[in-house]
Amino acid sequence: MTGSFEALAEAVCATCGAQCCYGAHPPLSPGRIAILRERGVPHTAFECNGYTRIHSDQDGLCIMCIDGRCRIHAFKPETCVAGPFTFEVADNRLRLFLKHESICPLVPYLKADERVYETQFQNAAQILADLVRSLPSRELDVINAIPEPETDLVAEIPLDPGGDCIP
Ligand code: SF4
Ligand code: SF4
Repeated sequence: MTGSFEALAEAVCATCGAQCCYGAHPPLSPGRIAILRERGVPHTAFECNGYTRIHSDQDGLCIMCIDGRCRIHAFKPETCVAGPFTFEVADNRLRLFLKHESICPLVPYLKADERVYETQFQNAAQILADLVRSLPSRELDVINAIPEPETDLVAEIPLDPGGDCIP
């Protein structure tokens, strides 16, 4: 399967059952919250539990997941856009991880296409750096403490003292 990352993700994610939307609790930058509010997402869709995130239902499924699809796909949270890459910040570095194939069926397709992998890696690095810049340090500390099992470290990107990402 070759082509754009978007086409690849659309095809593979449709068969996955939205595995990554269970227990996701995706954080949101203030800018992303504003966009979602402008597009009619009610404030009750958000909660603050150490950081601002989207509510989940009683099974842990993000409430924006309807029939296995994201109903805010075009404006979804930064960490959802970055998938299957995820992140932490340590020692003033943005550390990027790639999920294991066992938890994301998209990963083997990504690994098989160097161009598509690189495109999504750059997308993820940029949007996660922007997210990190936008979050108060107390929220970032809470997000950093969330374990990310079944992932591999794939890159470390220095952040300047002001939080800006150095390409
Ligand atoms: S777990 Fe992977 S394949 Fe499944 S919906 Fe999420 S990104 Fe797509
Ligand atoms: S915002 Fe969309 S992609 Fe992200 S966890 Fe919720 S349903 Fe899944």
